[in-house]
Amino acid sequence: MTTEDIKNIKKLLSSPKQIVIIPHKNPDGDAIGSTLGFLHYLKQYDHEAVIIAPNDYPDFLKWMPGESSILKYDQQQDDCDRQIISADLIFTLDFNSLSRIGNMQTTVLKSSSIKIMIDHHQQPDDYARYMYSDVTMSSTCEMVYNFIDMLADTEKINSDIATCLYTGIMTDTGSFRFSSTTSATHEIVSILIEKGADNANIHNQVMDTNSYERLQLLGKALSNLKVIPEYKTAYISLTQAELNSFNFKKGDTEGFVNYGLSLKGVIFAAIFIESQQDNIIKISLRSKGDFSVNEFSRSHFEGGGHTNAAGGKSDLNMEGTIDKFISILPQYKKDLKAQ
Ligand code: 5GP
Ligand code: MN
Repeated sequence: MTTEDIKNIKKLLSSPKQIVIIPHKNPDGDAIGSTLGFLHYLKQYDHEAVIIAPNDYPDFLKWMPGESSILKYDQQQDDCDRQIISADLIFTLDFNSLSRIGNMQTTVLKSSSIKIMIDHHQQPDDYARYMYSDVTMSSTCEMVYNFIDMLADTEKINSDIATCLYTGIMTDTGSFRFSSTTSATHEIVSILIEKGADNANIHNQVMDTNSYERLQLLGKALSNLKVIPEYKTAYISLTQAELNSFNFKKGDTEGFVNYGLSLKGVIFAAIFIESQQDNIIKISLRSKGDFSVNEFSRSHFEGGGHTNAAGGKSDLNMEGTIDKFISILPQYKKDLKAQ
């Protein structure tokens, strides 16, 4: 993002606009935190701004200020289509390709609005007029803070904005542990706490919301955990029948993949989760060090993400997906061994 871009965006935002803010499908803490944080910022001016999420998100995000105003595209498509078409500006947050918003992309492409991307995923597509893309950033929430700073407007950051941005930074950095966490991240987090983010309460709201069934499902996932020491790899599988037997709800498997990665000596972890509704196996991949799960997922499982965290999918059944995964590992033997 150049100073010229910032000047232009400042000019655009200097008069009331109709603005749509969009997070990716199956939004996570960073997607909801960044869109809500930015919404609360825009709301301080005379804009008409709305967040349209492609679909619903887990209950552990449903306490966030302003959350109930988020429209879900799959629940009220006609209304959402109208708003996307008539928008002056569309901000797309926390994703790098319109394929990440599912069938909503058709309307977004039809809309003559000016698109602005704020995102930290690798290899962004070229659909936005203005792009603030930085893969070194811990989170899109950290970037929204920087963006408001670039607009020279940090004094507008109130406790709602601070709360939302804190939440996304916390969730995308695994509570400030991942290597994407920098001193700048901590500086911003410190400012957000000063501005009213109640850090202890946010951790409680997001982390301490386990249902009994979710813990039982975690037990099942851990008993399904397999390790392949030769490739420093671990994986977990959960079939739809297993999910059903623990009364699975959206978000229940969040973080499970990290248990594989917490094993001593393991640097590559995967979780395979069957979705009967989408007729796919949804895959989450995590790594430590230089082994790029973004590249692995792009090459083999129609996905992507970051070096150390990526997602993807498979159209094979569970057995076929796991067989495929295992059969690919020898190609990466050198990279996995080198770590
Ligand atoms: P998760 O495994 O938590 O769903 O996602 C890990 C990271 O990869 C997130 O940053 C997420 O946005 C990204 N990601 C997840 N699924 C996909 C996918 O299917 N395609 C791409 N390009 N990125 C994904
Ligand atoms: Mn993110």
